[in-house]
Amino acid sequence: MIDVLVIGGGNAALCAALMAREAGASVLLLEAAPRAWRGGNSQHTRNLRCMHDGPQDVLVEAYPEEEFWQDLLKVTGGQTDEKLARLVIRASSNCRGWMRRHGVHFQPSLSGALHTARTNAFFMGGGKALVNAYFRSAENLGVQIRYDTPVADIELQDGRFVAAHVPAREVQGRHLPAERIEARTCVLAAGGFESNRQWLREAWGQNERGEWPSDNFLIRGTRFNDGVLLRRMIEQGADTIGDPTQAHMVAIDARAPLYDGGICTRIDCVSLGVVVNRDGQRFYDEGEDFWPKRYAIWGRLVAHQPGQVGFSVIDQKALGRFMPPVFPGATADSLEALAGLLGLPVQAFLETVHAYNRACQVGTFDHTRLDDCHTVGLEPMKSHWARPIDTPPYYGYPLRPGVTFTYLGLRTDETAAVHFDRRPSPNLFVAGEMMAGNVLGKGYTAGVGMSIGTAFGRIAGTSAAAAAGHEHPEKENRHDRATA
Ligand SMILES: Cc1cc2nc3c(=O)[nH]c(=O)nc-3n(C[C@H](O)[C@H](O)[C@H](O)COP(=O)(O)OP(=O)(O)OC[C@H]3O[C@@H](n4cnc5c(N)ncnc54)[C@H](O)[C@@H]3O)c2cc1C
Repeated sequence: MIDVLVIGGGNAALCAALMAREAGASVLLLEAAPRAWRGGNSQHTRNLRCMHDGPQDVLVEAYPEEEFWQDLLKVTGGQTDEKLARLVIRASSNCRGWMRRHGVHFQPSLSGALHTARTNAFFMGGGKALVNAYFRSAENLGVQIRYDTPVADIELQDGRFVAAHVPAREVQGRHLPAERIEARTCVLAAGGFESNRQWLREAWGQNERGEWPSDNFLIRGTRFNDGVLLRRMIEQGADTIGDPTQAHMVAIDARAPLYDGGICTRIDCVSLGVVVNRDGQRFYDEGEDFWPKRYAIWGRLVAHQPGQVGFSVIDQKALGRFMPPVFPGATADSLEALAGLLGLPVQAFLETVHAYNRACQVGTFDHTRLDDCHTVGLEPMKSHWARPIDTPPYYGYPLRPGVTFTYLGLRTDETAAVHFDRRPSPNLFVAGEMMAGNVLGKGYTAGVGMSIGTAFGRIAGTSAAAAAGHEHPEKENRHDRATA
């Protein structure tokens, strides 16, 4: 019988598989996606957030534990487990050596990336290269990997993992029969439920306009994170954490594909112009704070607008000040023509822009600080970077909510054990998005998803191997179950 069964094929699953294999356990990894689409949301990432007390290879200055912790505390509004959060923070300071040993390369922050040279280590080649390196290393170490293998159910006995069930399926014209796969221990790392349209519908419900808002959400990452295992675990009494409506949600290009659009569909010019809804009305302060701090609120803001759509409008002055999106914007030499191209009510849109232009106070525009260009007497106000939209050509980008990942997950502890009635399972562990809600009850700070997945993936793999009788050789990573 296999020692450790790992379910999932993203960062958390791969970290778990590698650690368990390093400990000497036999490991089988089951990935729902075909090989070409392996790697879940992790394949779309660019960096992880790292604590460090001084300059370190690709990271400048220092980002001490306390500052990381305060950042997490702020964005989550206190909805975080301090013990687990600090564990992630500390693990982020020393994981890169291990990552390098498994083939991950780092590079300094790109200019124009969210001011992250101090806090975030970037993966050379992005998340796809990271995932490829981990798969390569896992194969070399003897981890068995199976693609096209979506687990539909987990068989449990008194909180103990017994077996995983894979349904019968067609793969490239071949019929594969249903399977029951037993293992001594198991790590669940199958992501959130962001790609499950029905579950999103249930979580978001119907609004006062009779709309089902989530029907208009786009999914920024993989189509394979459908939450089937999360749901089965909840139905079987696993303890949960987090609110099903909480998700990391960004305003992205409405023309992005339904799944896997990745980061190039983000629209980063919001703070440089105005955003209107389909009625041509503004609805939020576009200049509230630096874009990196506020970008993740705009998905939710657009989700609350009629038709779940918005339009980011800028003029020629904004060009060169933001990362250009992959699709060009609608372009026109007059605001009337732009409204026509975007399908906006011309009169209402013109009134909105003219009112905004009149309210802009002349100041010293500086997009690198909270400048003094703001509106007066306008509702909602624009607090910074408010300059009249008066210089053609004008550009408009349609926006939709883009879900990055959901926060509802399984409750866990510092050994990564799944809990039933507050008691840890002896042989079932969880990592990544499936438990990120323990650390991140709401909000987001860039790069922490990979910090959580790396820390807990490694812990889960170590714990699972230990529960199958294999201690990891690196003492610092060893987990003493007795102290849990
Ligand atoms: C566009 C985008 C950009 C991002 N950028 C960053 C970034 O730069 N830094 C950062 O920290 N975070 C970023 N994130 C968030 C980050 O991707 C996640 O926090 C992290 O990848 C989660 O890792 P994971 O292993 O838990 O999940 P995933 O990487 O999503 O892996 C889940 C895996 O489980 C598999 N799976 C699902 N269901 C089953 C099943 N039933 N049976 C078998 N396998 C199953 C999936 O196929 C997938 O391989 C980004 C996300 C997106 C979408």
